[in-house]
Amino acid sequence: MLLTVTTTHRPATDLGYLLVKHPDRVHTFDVPTGTAHVFYPEAAADRCTAALLLDVDPRRLAGGRNRRTTPADFTLGRYVNDRPYAASSLLASALSKVFRSALRGASRDRPELVAATIPLEIQVPALRCRGGSALAESLFGPLGWTVTATPVPLDERRPDWGDSRYVDLTLRGVIRLADALNQVYVLLPVLDDAKHYWVAPDEIDKLLRAGEGWLASHPQRGLIARRYLVHRRALAGRALAQLDERRLAELRLADDAADPDSVDPDPAAGERPGDEDAQLPEAVRRQPLAVHRRRAVLAELARVGASRVLDLGCGGGALLVDLVAERRHTEIVGTDVSVGALAMAERRLRLDRLPQRQRDRIKLWQSALTYRDDRLRGYDAAVLMEVVEHLDAERLPALEDAVFGHARPGTVIVTTPNVEYNVRYEGLPAGRLRHSDHRFEWTRAEFAAWTDRVADAHGYRVTRSGVGDEDPEVGCSTQLATFIREGGSP
Ligand code: SAH
Repeated sequence: MLLTVTTTHRPATDLGYLLVKHPDRVHTFDVPTGTAHVFYPEAAADRCTAALLLDVDPRRLAGGRNRRTTPADFTLGRYVNDRPYAASSLLASALSKVFRSALRGASRDRPELVAATIPLEIQVPALRCRGGSALAESLFGPLGWTVTATPVPLDERRPDWGDSRYVDLTLRGVIRLADALNQVYVLLPVLDDAKHYWVAPDEIDKLLRAGEGWLASHPQRGLIARRYLVHRRALAGRALAQLDERRLAELRLADDAADPDSVDPDPAAGERPGDEDAQLPEAVRRQPLAVHRRRAVLAELARVGASRVLDLGCGGGALLVDLVAERRHTEIVGTDVSVGALAMAERRLRLDRLPQRQRDRIKLWQSALTYRDDRLRGYDAAVLMEVVEHLDAERLPALEDAVFGHARPGTVIVTTPNVEYNVRYEGLPAGRLRHSDHRFEWTRAEFAAWTDRVADAHGYRVTRSGVGDEDPEVGCSTQLATFIREGGSP
């Protein structure tokens, strides 16, 4: 059973301080289910990976206090099962032992780094997953992770046999390491849904402690609590009641802190949802490219006369604020896959302080752009501002189907970086993208090819323009396309 944690935060080897495990050594620990090893397959200044390998001892699993939950009375099944190989609650409990101080968010040597969000990639190559890759996405996605969960085929040489119950899971995000580890600690056994140990009432406390700051507002908190507590209804009920209380307390806190300026991207504070130009040099980020972009989008919306508008992947809600300011917009819907982003948008809009009539114009929905969502049908226009480049290229067809094929708004406005322009940003190292979560950035030719193909496939007419100063050689910093649906009705 293997789990790796990679960072590209610089210096990446600081990961060793955060995990309290020196990158130059192999660390070995005795854990109740076997032996855990921590080692670093790579440890350089720009990229560092720590691996946790759990060597399960099947005899220990079969015997002693774990007996009650190994596969029932089928004696052979106690010894021959997938427990030693698949990541699961065993790996989660080893993680909690081996990385105890990192989970608590303690670091003697790098206390300031503990509090910082850093680029992280977590991989679990063989994760037993009841509910498949869609469930993995719905558990990790709302926490701000970009999830790639690839089903592992039963037999690579026999594709006709179909997929196994395992997925190869990769999570990418910009997040505090302690939060990441706590999320993995809770959600691995939830995905596996077959905990190896007997659930004691103190598991509620463990769940609530590890869920601090993210579980109370998680859209799947019911399923998480039930599965984590191994379907013991009374325990799950108690956990959920406590989570609700916590959520209320958080909302009250957010209320007190409701100050739109406090959520504006601050270059010194690291990346936040909606801080799209995060990797750009600070001087450039202070220039109002983001403002120009919003103005250009608003101008397009005005040109086509849209009044019911979707802001898909709305992030922290900067555009929503502008949309609300225009009386012409009678209905404004912001969607995002990240609940954190939606919560920020809610605060930035000061939804709780708006008069009811204003509030009724605005909706914030959690929705993934890679799935069809009936709620999104029938709108005048949809905006995808700096969103497509956050999707893995192989997920783009799913977005095309969901937006252009299924939601089918009258107008779709897409903005995305022009990668050719990156050479004009002094201080942005050659080849580096503008944001650590960008999966790609397109040249003008690539954007033209994509927009032409999509328009053609779905019955739209497309026009393209640029935002920002136009450079004679490399064009504008931001590319913009406006798709207009052909022939009246969807
Ligand atoms: N449109 C905003 C935010 C851009 S950042 C702005 O320009 O300021 C990209 C946003 O897309 C993030 O908030 C991210 O959570 C969201 N996102 C990424 N993948 C998504 C998906 N598959 N479905 C929905 N939203 C997604």
